[in-house]
Amino acid sequence: MGTGPGRDTYSYRILRKNWLLVQRQYGNPCTWCLFPIDWDTDNPRSRYAPTVDHLWPLSKGGPPEDTNYWVLAHYSCNSRRGNRITWDPLAYDQHSEAW
Ligand SMILES: [Zn+2]
Repeated sequence: MGTGPGRDTYSYRILRKNWLLVQRQYGNPCTWCLFPIDWDTDNPRSRYAPTVDHLWPLSKGGPPEDTNYWVLAHYSCNSRRGNRITWDPLAYDQHSEAW
């Protein structure tokens, strides 16, 4: 099934594109390292390229199109985090140190 659950659909791609546009308009930085995003890069796999990081990993049953679980992250920060974190919405406030 290609790149994983939920990410191959047309509606997901549109949602992602519009969400990233909003992030860019606000000038939001990377959620994890707080450094600026490289919005002008042509390479989606360059270190500072913008990505959607799913706080609730899709591989662990996260809803792909629920933007409440989306955060903006560099490509490098996103891949470093990977799927190690199991997202528990109820424990969100206690997470910040434990990661
Ligand atoms: Zn980063």
